[in-house]
Amino acid sequence: MIYLDNAATTKPCEECISAMNEVMRQAFGNASSLHKMGTASIEIISRAKRTLLSTVTGSKAIFDGDVVFTSGATESNNTALRGINFRGKKIVTTAIEHPSVARTADVLEKQGFEVIRLAPKDYENFEDAIIGSVDKDTALVSCMAVNNETGFSIDIPKIYKEIKKKNPATVVHIDAVQGFLKVPLDGDLISVSGHKIHAVKGIGALFIKKGVNVSPLLFGGGQQKNLRSGTEPVELIAGFEAAVKAYHGTAEKFNELKARLLDGLYGLSDIGINSNEKCVPNIVNFSVRGVRSEIMLHSLEEDGICVSSGSACSKGKTSSVPAAFGISDKGADCAVRVSFCAENTAEEVDRLIKKISETIERVRR
Ligand code: PMP
Repeated sequence: MIYLDNAATTKPCEECISAMNEVMRQAFGNASSLHKMGTASIEIISRAKRTLLSTVTGSKAIFDGDVVFTSGATESNNTALRGINFRGKKIVTTAIEHPSVARTADVLEKQGFEVIRLAPKDYENFEDAIIGSVDKDTALVSCMAVNNETGFSIDIPKIYKEIKKKNPATVVHIDAVQGFLKVPLDGDLISVSGHKIHAVKGIGALFIKKGVNVSPLLFGGGQQKNLRSGTEPVELIAGFEAAVKAYHGTAEKFNELKARLLDGLYGLSDIGINSNEKCVPNIVNFSVRGVRSEIMLHSLEEDGICVSSGSACSKGKTSSVPAAFGISDKGADCAVRVSFCAENTAEEVDRLIKKISETIERVRR
């Protein structure tokens, strides 16, 4: 199998699996228990928190705040958008957000907030557009670091700094699911997800900057400083930490794979590349004119190659995201997303190109 759908989910790494196994076998205590099994669990959680706080920004700076473990980024995003103290009536977000942010923003709009949704196609400089939309009445900015469909990335440290200069009371939330461990990050609230970085599904985190108040979504036993009730899933947390430590994807490696893929695609006719120079190198979105995504996907699948059409999260539904990038409906219909991990090879890219070429010939015959 050639797995090129790492933006949808990644294969759990050995380090994650071993760490989870060890905790399940030896340290399965409830972190609320007063005996030593409980203490052991608390220690595992504290260590994982330290690891996450020291890696999230992508620089030497340790994140100045706390981290809450959640069931994944959908929960982190919901907690962020629904849990903050709103000081103002406006919300600035983008038209390319994941549904876990977009649908929550829709609900807030129905409750009376004015929601501004910016589309990259309308601006030369998207960072300036985001910063420029913030005023005295902006309670929240929620924007993603890297788009899951095209790989389009936003300079997060820059917008965070400038937004705070304009209005220190604006809470800045970053959905960093696709950017974590890949691009520099900052923010008042940052959402990440384990299964995109070779941990397992069902674990994520919300980073909360010192001084930012968040109300919990769930009421219950008051775990995690009452920010996220529910017995802490120690094995998932240990696996998440192990995956973070073991992560070894580099821009250099992804750039090589991307260059090879683009080279191959340029050699074929009727290909439109939807990922521009503002996109991270591990995600490449392109359209093969005249071959619908579904046909291409199934043809590649016959050869054991897994890619995606747009986003796996919008399965069965037409995504409005391609249009916000200026991709035509026709282009979106034929869009294919290839997303790499560190284990992918040049040979795999070559096989993908060969199979795409064969599929084009077969369909057009
Ligand atoms: N945000 C983005 C950008 C994503 O790509 C995803 C997952 N596709 C999510 C949020 C949701 O993450 P999770 O699966 O952990 O709920």
